[in-house]
Amino acid sequence: MTTPRYKRVMLKLSGEVLMGDRQFGIDPAFVAKLARDVKAAKETGLEICLVIGGGNIFRGMAGAAAGMDRAQADYMGMLATVMNALAMQNALEQLGVHTRVQSAIQMDQVCEPVIRRRAERHLEKDRVVIFAAGVGSPYFTTDSGAALRAAEMKCDALFKGTSVDGVYDSDPKTNPDAVRYDSISYDQVLGDNLKVMDAAAIALCRDNGIPIVVFNIREDGNLARVLTGEGVSTVVVPKAKTTENTKGQAHGRV
Ligand code: UDP
Repeated sequence: MTTPRYKRVMLKLSGEVLMGDRQFGIDPAFVAKLARDVKAAKETGLEICLVIGGGNIFRGMAGAAAGMDRAQADYMGMLATVMNALAMQNALEQLGVHTRVQSAIQMDQVCEPVIRRRAERHLEKDRVVIFAAGVGSPYFTTDSGAALRAAEMKCDALFKGTSVDGVYDSDPKTNPDAVRYDSISYDQVLGDNLKVMDAAAIALCRDNGIPIVVFNIREDGNLARVLTGEGVSTVVVPKAKTTENTKGQAHGRV
């Protein structure tokens, strides 16, 4: 593998990725595959911070839509992210990767609280740090949590692993003419309301100069490829680098 372009990265995985092909919850076999990808990336010398969402188990908005109090439902969502963090911790440790989970909601018997300086120390000691419970407050998402921790931990980039290979001008699942951007500006993402991450997360990355790389984590070996700038992805930066974006089947590189 070529030398990675980054030293320290934040990897954000939506909870849905942990479902594998299931409709709900956690597929341990797929989490093990993700853990192998993370291990391979780490073995290139990268320091890796992880944030995992909770959408495979519970989302506050869904609870609120069903009549629950939004804040109460959001706390349930945050607890779901802790479960996912523990599942990923388990998978990584089974591969011999040392990890620590730090939660924004304190639960001493299960994991550490978020302490930035301690997290720094973990990374120095070659551990993967998994940040759970988002920012620890309702009305936020784990995208914002990932952007916040990426800023705090001075990550060189935020990698958002999803089920699509980048950012499109419309939904590629329903529109065969959808165009994938190779690169796009934070302001266009916000202005066009493109579904990359929530607005608070985009603004936090923009204001702190953190590039966001959106890529398909389901594809085998793709994490390693995008980390070296070879895989298919969309990068969100202050100013888009190219106007040559890709229609239909994506093939461009950043
Ligand atoms: N959540 C929250 N505050 C946070 C992070 C998450 O309230 O800082 C709740 C919110 O209800 C959210 C749920 O946790 O719907 C799961 O997180 P998210 O939707 O970001 O997960 P993902 O879509 O990435 O799987």
